[in-house]
Amino acid sequence: MAEPTRAYCLRCGRDVETEHRYPRTLRRVLKGYFFIPLALVPFYPLLASDYVLAIPMMMLYMLGIGPALVITKDPALCVECGALIPVLGPNAQATSH
Ligand SMILES: [Zn+2]
Repeated sequence: MAEPTRAYCLRCGRDVETEHRYPRTLRRVLKGYFFIPLALVPFYPLLASDYVLAIPMMMLYMLGIGPALVITKDPALCVECGALIPVLGPNAQATSH
């Protein structure tokens, strides 16, 4: 699924090229971060019983969720003016001033 490289910039008032602050591969790899707990479901009894290694590692994982969310949900930027390009939903209406 290709990402759109053009979007409507509210500040410029026209369609512009967009860019992201983080590389595309990093954003795609970090989406897999959220599926790690699903892969570990069969091991939960073992992980929950290991107070020395597994529980501190799970806490470290939870600390990483915030930065991973910041990178994967980072909005596109206008190449020309640097404004954030909002992701418009199906009911969003463009306003012109
Ligand atoms: Zn712009």
